[in-house]
Amino acid sequence: MNLFDTHAHLDGFVADGTVEAVLDRARAAGVESVCVVGSSAVSNELVADLVRARPEMLVGAAGLDRDQAELSPDMERLAELLEGAGMVAVGEIGLDYHYSGGTAGAQRGLFGRMLEFALERRKPVIVHSREADDDTLAMLSEFADAWRGRGGASPPGILHCFTGGAEFAERLVAAGLMISFSGIVSFNNAGPLREVARRIPDERLLIETDCPYLAPKPYRGRVNEPAYVARVAEVLAETRGVRVEELAALTRANARRVFQLEDGS
Ligand SMILES: [Zn+2]
Repeated sequence: MNLFDTHAHLDGFVADGTVEAVLDRARAAGVESVCVVGSSAVSNELVADLVRARPEMLVGAAGLDRDQAELSPDMERLAELLEGAGMVAVGEIGLDYHYSGGTAGAQRGLFGRMLEFALERRKPVIVHSREADDDTLAMLSEFADAWRGRGGASPPGILHCFTGGAEFAERLVAAGLMISFSGIVSFNNAGPLREVARRIPDERLLIETDCPYLAPKPYRGRVNEPAYVARVAEVLAETRGVRVEELAALTRANARRVFQLEDGS
C-alpha cells in the first residue's frame, strides 16, 4: 500500500530519539509519505530539519497556531523555512475556542495573518477548528475565493482532524477544501462522524494520524504514530464500501494534489 499520512507531529519522537524507528515502522505498515506539521517557532525548525534529512518520505508544513496568538511572530523566518524543498503548506493554523476562548480575537488576528501569508506564497493551508466552525468557515471561504482569484488551480487547503457535522463538511467541500479524518473516525461513539465521512466526495478525502495523540482503535491509550494511519484507511474503506488499497490510492493522490507535488499521481 502507498499510504499518505497528511498530519503528524513528530517533535516528541525526535526528543526521545525514536523518530527513525517510528518512520521505519510506518514504512513497514505501507506508509509511503508523511506530512510533518509544525505549530510554533521551535517545532517549525524541527519540521524543516526532518524534511531535509528524509526527503524521500517526508514533506513539511510550518505555521503558527492559535496558542501563539499573543506572541509576536517572526514572519521572515517562517517565510525562509517555507522556501525549503519539500515544505508544502502553511500549518497548522486555525481557531480553538474550547480551551482558549478568551483569546478568540487574538486567534482570529493570527489566523487571518497566516491565511494572507499563505496566499502570498501560493501555499495551501492546514487548518484546525474546534468550537469555532462559523468563524473558521467564514475566514476559509474568503481565503478560498482569493486563492482561486489569483489563479490557484489546486485545492486551497485542508480542514484537518475533522470532527464536525454534515453541514460544516458540505460547506467546506463547496468552498473547495479537502477534509481529513484521523483515528477519531474509528472510535465506538463515532457513528455520526463515519456517516459524514461516508459522504465526502472521493476527490476531497484525506487521512491522517494527528499523532502522537488520538491513536485509533484498537490502539487507543498508546502513543499514536504514522504507522497507525493504516487503521484509519481500513475504517474509512469499510465505511465507504471500497477496498483499502483503493482508499489508500485515492487519498494519496488527493494529498499529492493539495500539496502540489509534481506528477499528481
Ligand atoms: Zn495537529
